[in-house]
Amino acid sequence: MLLTITATMDRASDLGFLLHKHPDRVHRFDLSFGRATIFYPELDQARCTVCLLVEVDPVALVRKRSGPSGEGGQLAHYVNDRPYAVSSFFSVALAETFGTAMAGRSKDRPDLAGSIIPFEVSIPVLPSRGGEDLIRALFEPLGYAVDVRRLDLDQKFPEWGHSRYFDVKLAGRFPLQTLLEHLYVLIPVLDDEKHYWVGDDEVDKLIRRGGDWLPNHPARDQIARRYLKHRKSLTRLAIERLAGVDEDAAIENSAAVGKPMTREEDLEVGLSLNEQRLQRVVEAVQAVGAKSVVDLGCGEGKLLRELLKLRGLDRILGMEVSLRSLDAASGRLDLEQLSPSVRSRIELIHGSLMYRDRRLSGFDVATVIEVIEHLDVARLKSFERVLFECARPKSVVVTTPNVEYNVRFEGLPSGQFRHPDHRFEWSRGEFRRWGEVMASRFGYNVRFDAVGPVDSDLGAPTQMAVFVER
Ligand code: SAH
Repeated sequence: MLLTITATMDRASDLGFLLHKHPDRVHRFDLSFGRATIFYPELDQARCTVCLLVEVDPVALVRKRSGPSGEGGQLAHYVNDRPYAVSSFFSVALAETFGTAMAGRSKDRPDLAGSIIPFEVSIPVLPSRGGEDLIRALFEPLGYAVDVRRLDLDQKFPEWGHSRYFDVKLAGRFPLQTLLEHLYVLIPVLDDEKHYWVGDDEVDKLIRRGGDWLPNHPARDQIARRYLKHRKSLTRLAIERLAGVDEDAAIENSAAVGKPMTREEDLEVGLSLNEQRLQRVVEAVQAVGAKSVVDLGCGEGKLLRELLKLRGLDRILGMEVSLRSLDAASGRLDLEQLSPSVRSRIELIHGSLMYRDRRLSGFDVATVIEVIEHLDVARLKSFERVLFECARPKSVVVTTPNVEYNVRFEGLPSGQFRHPDHRFEWSRGEFRRWGEVMASRFGYNVRFDAVGPVDSDLGAPTQMAVFVER
């Protein structure tokens, strides 16, 4: 069974650095169930293809499986599709041979490891229980262009019926880590047959490999179910944990089990804080005379709708990691109904603040409104470089809750954040220190502001920082 990955970029041979496999050599690995070989069938300035060939030894497999009361010896166990169909063995081989790349690390090209690269993937024999429809349903929502051809034997052997094997080509733009994670999780989901026992640690694997993109996948539950081999308790656990990553689902979840809602909007409704915040951000955008704005983590597009009303803003880009929110934004903005001249000013894209992304550069202002507190503290460093170094807008507007104010919210138990998905909430001092470090490290001036009613001891519910490039 084999799979090829092609990167199209300048200095395409850098793919070798990303995979930690030199393009001039053939790399061989022994695996518990067979052998993996990695080589580069194509390499020039602009294109580099790597091939992962996995040979499964069916005889060894059966021997391994059959203990004293084993089921070895039956013909069916020797004659099976495992040697040639890309299956869950393949995921194991991917993780074992490309483990460092799948963890998002690169010794020699650390910056490139987070960069979005145009990739093409070819899988000549991919089994899919669920046919072409399922292949599309899994990959298309992630942003892949999918080309599928059924490998039909039915003309020669009509009695065999339709085959469940497909020749699949995928094309999409992702960091290499993300691409490998997609393949790692989705290949066995399509196959829907696992060669190893599924235990509790499989839930961890699923969350580790899918935590960034699976929570908002429309087929999330089906993916979890199949990945965990239809084990109900594990599936429920995985879905709960994945839902915890996603805002809307987390809220629905807590509502469903009767826990008190801690939705920010409900807490803050009396203040109409959200409107005040939008107003203040719009003023900040106007104050720097911006002609272009990128709204990072644009959610359902509330700010975008306000920005669209401003004359003089020629280019508005909304970027969001949650496909569900992007969909909602597209509806809220009524994109289909806008006149062509207004429509041409705005664009929505799917992306993540964790990855360098050229589409985010060249803007006068970047707004990051109530987003940073949703990022893991351990991953803030990546975000900081993506924003201040790579996207490098002339100005940046950041807002985040002021945790000191939380005691004023009735109904918010002490010590709890305003939203279940918040990873942290900062005091005024913490936010100020962070902002000052950012400003001095990346060459910006920064000022801080309070949004909402100011309590003399606690400050205001929302804090805002405005960075302007020096
Ligand atoms: N800015 C919007 C939404 C705030 S909620 C508003 O003010 O209404 C936080 C948003 O950040 C969510 O929509 C969430 O999906 C998004 N988000 C979280 N992590 C992200 C990431 N890594 N990249 C991009 N967006 C992210």
